[in-house]
Formats: sequence, structure tokens, C-alpha cells
Amino acid sequence: MVKDLLSPSLKEWNVELIKRTFCKEEADLILGIPLPRCYQDDQLICHFSQNGKYSVKTGYHLARRHYYLKNEASRGGGGSGSKSKSPRLFIWSPKVPEKIKITVWRLATNSLPTRQNLVRKKIITDIFCPLCEQGAESAVHRVIECDFARQCWALSNIPFSTWQHVDGEVESWLRTFQQNLDHNQWRLAMIIIWSMWQQRNIKNIGETCSNPYEVIQFSISYLQAIDLHCLNCTPPLQQPGEQEWQPPPIDTVKINFDASFSTATSSWGLGFIARDHNGLSLGWRHKEIHGIFHPTTAEAMAAREAVYFANEKGWRNVVVELKEIALLS
Ligand SMILES: [Zn+2]
Repeated sequence: MVKDLLSPSLKEWNVELIKRTFCKEEADLILGIPLPRCYQDDQLICHFSQNGKYSVKTGYHLARRHYYLKNEASRGGGGSGSKSKSPRLFIWSPKVPEKIKITVWRLATNSLPTRQNLVRKKIITDIFCPLCEQGAESAVHRVIECDFARQCWALSNIPFSTWQHVDGEVESWLRTFQQNLDHNQWRLAMIIIWSMWQQRNIKNIGETCSNPYEVIQFSISYLQAIDLHCLNCTPPLQQPGEQEWQPPPIDTVKINFDASFSTATSSWGLGFIARDHNGLSLGWRHKEIHGIFHPTTAEAMAAREAVYFANEKGWRNVVVELKEIALLS
């Protein structure tokens, strides 16, 4: 019975028993299953939808994705100059975090909210690139034509060319780009594209963004951290342009939390610290969780511990932040 593998409180796995009973890989998988803090009835959850409920739409998209992945695999992964529009395996298969794949996919499909797209939808009127202010911000401009992008590529040591046969579509350029790079160069290129888009968003709201040199240094460190953690994950790195800790307003408690993974023990360390508006510590906790989780899950678990802690203390005005970055309030 599964409950035999739980501690007497039924709130935590019996780590010692599981490690004694199963091989390391199986133990890591079991310990990686999050447990609720309080008892609740089991229920069926659809893993493939955001709200956990199955719908015909969910099933349709799942079947479609399987169909195209199967076809793409039989065609050899979409390489060799394939002009196939879907499913873009060269974007989805590299080992980088999902958020990076999604950004590159949105770039390839011209679905990023570039100013050109927003002007087309009559949401804004200013079409000029927020970074260089010298051209309409299209998807092609964002990663090929913009001076900011060109400086980033020049500093990256990645062989970059505009390849005149871009034929106006950024996806054609991305495919050619990927085919001219080795696996790790392409992963780095994806991280650079994502990082450039982050900096563009920072500049777009009038804040100071990182320079191309910082973007490249961050991207290289990010790739190393992904490999070091052996996970398709977000490493505990400082983003370029990340702000220093800011105190909360008077009568408000700020709790900063974080999660870090130890490859030596295959466990996550969850921690948080609560401070007042003077920066004085009001309390902190650290907890070790065994198992392999996605970093976002581990961070969410750390946030949950922080919220429970605030509730225990009876604090009403609380800001909860992931490291120095505001997550929710
Ligand atoms: Zn530009």
C-alpha cells in the first residue's frame, strides 16, 4: 500500500524506508511525488490541461501533437532543409527550460507581442523597436536586424549570418541558423533569444535593461547551470538587471523564498526569510525535500511554506517574493 511508504503523520514520505526498499532511480521518482499537507480524497486529474479537467479540446491538441511528433520523427527531426511548419521539433527537443522553447516557438510563429504585431491589432501606435528605436519591431528585427541583437550575436561567438534567403520569415532563418550550429550552440542561441526578449520587455516598460555583454554572460552561465543540475530547469542564477532587495511598506512583512537543488543528495532545499520594513528578520525556515522536481514546482513548494508560515504568525499584510523578484503579493 502506498500509505505504508508514508510517515506516521501521512504528510511526508518515509525517506529511509523508500531508500532501503527501492533502487535509487525509483526512490527519486517516488520521493519526487508531492504530498498534500492535509488529507483530501483522491480525484482524477487530466495531466495535459491547465485546470486538470479533460475536454475534447485537450484531447484534440494532444492527439494532434502526437501525430505531428510521430511524423516529424519519421522525417528525421525536421532537419535537412525541411520547410515543414509543424511541429518544429528543432525548437521542442533541445534540453532547455520550457519557457525558453515557448519564447522561441512564439518567435518562429510570429506570435510574440512585438510592436509590429500590437500595431497591427491596433493596441498601440508606436511601432519602433524599444531597444534601438531605429526600425519597426518585427520578429525578424527582434533577432536579426536590431543592433542590440547583432551585438549579442557578435559577442556570443556563435556563427551568425542574416542569410539573405530569410524570405521574410523568421522561422526559415531559425531553421537555417539551427542547421549551421552544433547541439550546444543551438541551445545557447535559444537561451540568448529568450534573454534578449526579456531585456526587450524590461526596456519596453521604461526600465534600464542589461547590455549585450551582460546578456551573453548570463546566457552562457545559464546553459552551464542547466547542465550542472542535469535538469531541464531554471537555475538559481541572478537575471541580468535583477533588482536589489527592496523593503516592504510599513506594517507589511516581506518573505523572500527560494529553492535550490543538490545533485549530491538528489534533494531540494526550500527556504525563506521574513523581514519587516527595516530589513529586520522576523523568522526563517529551511526544509529539505527528497526527490526530483521541476524547479518551478520546488519554488512553488517553498512559496507555499512561506504562506503557511505567515498564516501561523497571523500576519495580514504580507508580500511573498521569489528571491528578489516580486512574484505575488
Ligand atoms: Zn531594434
